[in-house]
Amino acid sequence: LRKPKVVVLGAGYGGLITTTRLQKLVSLDEAEITLVNKNDYHYETTWLHEASAGTLHHDRARYLIKDVINTNRVNFVQDTVVAINKEEKKVQLENGELEYDYLVISLGSNPETFGIQGLKEYAFGITNINSARLLREHIESEFAMYNNEEEKRDERLTIVVGGAGFTGIEFLGELGNRVPELCKEYDVDFKKVRIICVEAAPTALPGFDPALVEYAVNHLQAKGVEFMIGTAIKECTKTGIIVAKGEETEEIKANTVVWAAGVRGNSIVEEAGFENMRGRVKVDEFLRAPGHDDVFIIGDCSLVINPEIDRPYPPTAQIAMQQGETCAKNVAVAIRKQGQQAPFTADIKGSVASLGEDNAVGVVFGKKVVGKQASFMKKMIDNRALFMVGGPSLVMKKGKFKLI
Ligand code: FAD
Repeated sequence: LRKPKVVVLGAGYGGLITTTRLQKLVSLDEAEITLVNKNDYHYETTWLHEASAGTLHHDRARYLIKDVINTNRVNFVQDTVVAINKEEKKVQLENGELEYDYLVISLGSNPETFGIQGLKEYAFGITNINSARLLREHIESEFAMYNNEEEKRDERLTIVVGGAGFTGIEFLGELGNRVPELCKEYDVDFKKVRIICVEAAPTALPGFDPALVEYAVNHLQAKGVEFMIGTAIKECTKTGIIVAKGEETEEIKANTVVWAAGVRGNSIVEEAGFENMRGRVKVDEFLRAPGHDDVFIIGDCSLVINPEIDRPYPPTAQIAMQQGETCAKNVAVAIRKQGQQAPFTADIKGSVASLGEDNAVGVVFGKKVVGKQASFMKKMIDNRALFMVGGPSLVMKKGKFKLI
């Protein structure tokens, strides 16, 4: 008898939770499970701001996929997904093709540049290990260059961060720690450095409690960050950015521009022809693509409505992991063709934004937290994500233990 083929695309938070749960739920005789990922490692997307600033080595933010999956149960394919053909139930890879009976799409996000000219070409992103490594190296080499030119070019020491959302704020927090180190290492006067955060919305950290926003902004300003709130980046060029506030425009010369102002679902989902909003598919309550009971979509590629406010949940690792748990159960039900599909409900435990090594702001179980306590919580959350995928041994290997 032919076994059903389950193919999971992407070994991020959603894909790895699905796979590690599925390998336990479903026996070898019941289904053939294949996991596809671009690299042979998983990276903690939620730690990339640290790797990008250089406060955490990128190897600390990744681990081998084969160390957390059961390779007797799961066939791991290291390859890049190029296209999904949902009519023929096939996945096109760079180096081959896979057939599926059930597909789980957990390919994460792509940067959303809102059509702003020059961002794709000239801005750095905080998207994966390679982009993080590049950004860290770039910033460091700008500092290294500064004192090696006859005519000092201050734009080498100007870093613009586009976006004061979660990612932008967390990255600024790390720069707050890293830049003084770089100044010391490369004999640079800290006063020469500019770190500018440009945000089009009327506030930093939109959606966060105003008192927490104020705390975060004050902390970052004390570390030398300048905020340009209610200001839009109009264009990014080879030499910096052009911003607009109302009628006025201004050019800011900067050799480092980091775009951290938004993501959309992976373009592969759009190209596959699923109905989507910015690459995110509004899945049914069982996490399936509308009209495709054999395709589950989770994580940043999916869109789930928060019934309390009738608006989509922002894409987070927290939701991706919870979806992974439900998705594994539902794939098992689908394979067996018996039992009931479980509806997905998000259980938001809170969210904490780090502000560098020993500070953070957030809400945990409905309670506001700031400072060292929040920073401790953040590290616990990071360790919990490791625990969920790889148990205590992964926490011992990769966990954050400098808790206070
Ligand atoms: P990901 O975890 O991004 O995984 C996608 C996987 O797919 C990757 O392994 C990638 O290599 C692989 N892949 C992509 N394209 C292909 C392809 N074509 N072929 C093969 N493989 C492919 N969320 C929180 O809940 N809390 C936080 O504190 C938080 N902080 C964040 C901080 C930063 C700096 C950033 C950038 C994000 C943060 N997020 C946070 C958001 C969170 O990281 C994402 O929502 C989460 O990673 C989504 O999980 P996912 O499984 O959908 O995708």
